[in-house]
Amino acid sequence: MTALRFLAALALLAAGFFGLYELVESPRSAAFAPVVTHGSGRVVALTFDDGPTRGITDRLLDVLERERVPGTFFVVGSAARREPALLRRMAADGDEIEDHSETHPHLNAIVSRAALDAEITAADDAIAAATGRHARWLRPPYGARNAAVLAAAQRHGMRVVLWSAMLDETSPQVAPDALVERLLRQAGDGAIVVLHDGDRGRAEPGGRAYEAALAPRVIAALRARGYRFVTLQQLAGGG
Ligand SMILES: [Zn+2]
Repeated sequence: MTALRFLAALALLAAGFFGLYELVESPRSAAFAPVVTHGSGRVVALTFDDGPTRGITDRLLDVLERERVPGTFFVVGSAARREPALLRRMAADGDEIEDHSETHPHLNAIVSRAALDAEITAADDAIAAATGRHARWLRPPYGARNAAVLAAAQRHGMRVVLWSAMLDETSPQVAPDALVERLLRQAGDGAIVVLHDGDRGRAEPGGRAYEAALAPRVIAALRARGYRFVTLQQLAGGG
C-alpha cells in the first residue's frame, strides 16, 4: 500500500515536472525567449532599422557622434553586405549592430525551418564579416514573430526585441516637430525608440528613411526631459 502510494506520488511528480518542462521549453515561455519591448529607468535606447543606406546612415552617424549618443542599428543583411564600411564605422563609434534579417521578409510566413534559420544567420554573417562581432538581438521585420521565429532566435542565441516607440508609416510631408511629438508621446522610462535609416534594406533611400533626419530633434527633446542614452544591450541585456 505504501509502495503503491509512493509510486502514485512519483507518477504525479513526474507528470508535474513534464508539465513544467513543457511550459518552460515552449518558445512562448517568458523563461527562455522573452520578447523585450522596453527597459526601465531614466534611459532611452535609440534604435535604427532597415539600413544601412549610403547618404542616410552616414549622416546619422555624424549626428550620433557629435551628440555622443550611442545607437543600436538593426541592419538588413543584404544592405550590411553592400555597405561594410558603414558597419565598421558603427562598431568603431561604439554603436551596436544587431540582426533585422537578411531580406526583410515576414518571418512568420516562412514555413521552412532552414529558410528561417538562413534569414537570421545570413544577416549575422554579414555583421560578423564586417565587424568581427555577432548579433545578440533579433528584431523581426514588421514585429512578426510566432513560436517558430522565437525558437529560431533562441537556436541562434539571440533575444527578440520589438520597441516601445515608433512612427507609423507617416508621410514625410508631416512637419518634423509633429512627428517628434508623436514619437515622444510613446517614449517613457526605458523606452526603445525606433527610427528608420533605410527602406527594408534597399540601396535607394525612400520609404521611411527620412525618419533618420529626425534624430537631432528626438535627441534634444529626450535630453530636455532628462533622459540619458544607452544601447539596447545596456538597456535590456544586463550590461
Ligand atoms: Zn524593418
